[in-house]
Amino acid sequence: MTSQEIRKQFLNFFASKQHEIVQSAPLVNKNDPSLMFVNAGMNPFKEFFLGQKEPVYPRVADTQKCLRVSGKHNDLEEVGMDTYHHTMFEMLGNWSFGDYFKEEAIAWAWELLTEVFKIDKNSLYVTVFEGDKEDQLDFDHEAYDFWKKHIPAERILKGNKKDNFWEMGAQGPCGPCSEIHIDIRSDEEKALTPGKDLVNMDHPLVIEIWNLVFMEFNRRANGSLEKLPEKHVDTGMGFERLCMVIQKVQSNYDTDVFHPIIREIETITDTVYGKNEKTDVAIRVIADHVRAVAFAIADGQLPSNTGAGYVIRRILRRAIRYGFTFLNKKEPFIYQLANVLESQMGENFPEIVSQKNLIHNVIKEEEHSFLRTLDQGLILLDSIISNTTEKRISGKKAFELYDTYGFPKDLTSLILRERNMDFDEAEFDKEMSKQKSRSRAAAAVDTDDWNILSDDVEQEFIGYDYLQADVKITRYRKVSSKKDGDMYQLVFNLTPFYPEGGGQAGDKGYLELSNGNVIYILDTKKENNLILHYVRSLPEDPTQKFKAIVDREYRSRIMSNHTATHLLHQALRTVLGTHVEQKGSAVHSKGLRFDFSHFSKLSPEELKSIENFVNARIQENISLEENRNVPLEEAKKSGAIMLFGEKYGDTVRTIKFGQSTELCGGSHVKNTGDIWHFKIMSESAIASGIRRIEAITNDAARDYYFEQDEAYGKIKAVLKNPADLLKSVQNLQEENNKLKKEIEQLNKLKAASFKDDLIKNKKEINGVNFIGALLDTDAGSMKNIAFEIAGEIDNLFFIGGSNLDGKAILTIYISKNLVETKSLHAGNIIRELGKFIQGGGGGQPFFATAGGKNPSGLKQALDEAEKILEN
Ligand code: ATP
Ligand code: MG
Repeated sequence: MTSQEIRKQFLNFFASKQHEIVQSAPLVNKNDPSLMFVNAGMNPFKEFFLGQKEPVYPRVADTQKCLRVSGKHNDLEEVGMDTYHHTMFEMLGNWSFGDYFKEEAIAWAWELLTEVFKIDKNSLYVTVFEGDKEDQLDFDHEAYDFWKKHIPAERILKGNKKDNFWEMGAQGPCGPCSEIHIDIRSDEEKALTPGKDLVNMDHPLVIEIWNLVFMEFNRRANGSLEKLPEKHVDTGMGFERLCMVIQKVQSNYDTDVFHPIIREIETITDTVYGKNEKTDVAIRVIADHVRAVAFAIADGQLPSNTGAGYVIRRILRRAIRYGFTFLNKKEPFIYQLANVLESQMGENFPEIVSQKNLIHNVIKEEEHSFLRTLDQGLILLDSIISNTTEKRISGKKAFELYDTYGFPKDLTSLILRERNMDFDEAEFDKEMSKQKSRSRAAAAVDTDDWNILSDDVEQEFIGYDYLQADVKITRYRKVSSKKDGDMYQLVFNLTPFYPEGGGQAGDKGYLELSNGNVIYILDTKKENNLILHYVRSLPEDPTQKFKAIVDREYRSRIMSNHTATHLLHQALRTVLGTHVEQKGSAVHSKGLRFDFSHFSKLSPEELKSIENFVNARIQENISLEENRNVPLEEAKKSGAIMLFGEKYGDTVRTIKFGQSTELCGGSHVKNTGDIWHFKIMSESAIASGIRRIEAITNDAARDYYFEQDEAYGKIKAVLKNPADLLKSVQNLQEENNKLKKEIEQLNKLKAASFKDDLIKNKKEINGVNFIGALLDTDAGSMKNIAFEIAGEIDNLFFIGGSNLDGKAILTIYISKNLVETKSLHAGNIIRELGKFIQGGGGGQPFFATAGGKNPSGLKQALDEAEKILEN
């Protein structure tokens, strides 16, 4: 059975048990600060489990893209080393939201595996939670009894909290679980060691394939458990592992999920998989990582230097490094594998097809730049090696290589080993942990448990229509971090405050207390479906009623910039073409930023027509047409453009200004005329194939023109109010150029006369014509003087020292015949003399230069050169 068929059968099976089949949510989490990437099938459904949102369907099944490279679930270091952990993998799941529970979940899992997929019952084991004293939980005898109906007791094993109590993270929904394990060893091996002794022992052929979690609890910040309002089922089966079992191979990489990618890597790198453990690991790492990176890019997460983007960059760099070190690939090649992914997974994940060009370009550009960095690191490492006589370099130096050049520890030690050297690993590790604790301390946020004042979980957002409202606080909690200090997050029963999201900044404003005092709301954010209002202090009585008032000025600037962003998007697609796709945006009170796919720099003419297009729409005074609460499924059917970020169960909103229609949850002006004016401030590249435009509107545009006008007036005044300002600036420039040329001429004349003086003062030392000169000219002029003298005098040893604005420069010229007969070497001599000017340099045997920061040592350097010749 092919992997495509296996996926389909899974979904069909649960469809036949009344499950609604839904699409995978995007890999990157947008509204959950506690989790960067989806790391389990249940993440997108977290709000349903916590009772914070009503599910549309009580039973759902899907295949969810997961990424386990950070936080509680991090498999990165295993990937490639073993044959069954991936960074990105598909998790097949069936879900019950307060509907069926343990009995059905167990019966259906068993039916699917043994009857539909016909997996041998005698190769399967299941585990059941044994209970836990600390959490006061008993043995899960319910699950045990249900399993007993299907499988003999000796194949049901007890498991501890670590393996059989599933938790998403330090906080959140959790519950006991039952895992299904499979033993795919040969019969001989099975006879030697019973499979039940190898369950949960990290044996590569006795592995977990499916985890059935019975969600009943919420883990609170203080570590205690509370019962959830309802009981749910959350199951997760590793798709690639299932394929391995059904296709009767012993490694995920031998299934047809990975086969074509591996074939392609073999062809490109001219290696054969399965011949050598080192190259095999490298091939597995690359085959795995390219999937993670490609899917992240397709879901809108480009590699970058911070946050989720940095995690993606690190995964890609790990792949590049393995290619560089073990497959000897010094040129970009990983990007080519994206083609295979498209034909492999395109049917189920259309984003990988529609974003193919972007994936290609971004990976290629990343490969280029990291390979360059690796090259620079190599040069640096070379110089460290040649400047030491020791066999061991310091851990600090090796760490510096790692930190600034991304030069990994194993690569450094590999290169050193080739020269019979090594580095101080203990010191390296110490530096590493110092750095880690520095960044941990900077990022740590302590979050208290919610104080619940009312169990009103439905929270209404009324900010599209109102900027103030009478509200009640339904829950609040304290959060503390080094960066922001102590803050409180307040949740209201209803709110006019827009939470940061969809690129738009969160609202600011204040709460008015009944006694007239105010508490400022500094920011508004969203966490899952809760809208959090950030304040510095709590009101004395949080149960009273408040007036919540949004800062009108601030919000109206944001709205102006947001609507302008839509018009800009329309302008780009009109002027540049419909290949333009939004890749990110940031809308705040001071301006807007829009990132989009396009493959070349925009010309001044293009920028002008884009600006004109937007301003024309502003002048047309187009009214807003808004449509709220369109179910995602419906919007999709009507052909609306899908942006990344929506997931099953969401409703969307359409925003229309004339011909511009977008799915958007942000806030907008009622009429384009409110924007007043649109001005582009910059256009640049942020990644290969991605451009960024920054622009301003409204007040900011007005201020900009006022400032320009003022500056223009000042320049005019300085130039004594000429009739033609441009002409008079051009005249100034011309005059300046003429003067520069004249100075150059004068310098040449001066050099010629220096030259004559210098020749007159030459000394003869041991048959060498020695000329030492202290002249305060630049390095170029000094070189000219040296070469001109050499044209007139044989057997020349010339050394020049100059003090240029406090910087010292040394220049040495030695006639070719002296280099040969006396084996003098300008490069070596200047390196030695460098210490007098506290600097260094080098060069060829006949010509070399050095720079330093101590001009007072120049004289000494010249004297030392004489001494060298005397000896
Ligand atoms: P393991 O102990 O093998 O790491 P796990 O306990 O971390 O597994 P769960 O969190 O229960 O696994 O995830 C559910 C299923 O997802 C597992 O049964 C397994 O089939 C699959 N799975 C988990 N991690 C990975 C991974 N890194 N790559 C591929 N499949 C995975
Ligand atoms: Mg794991």
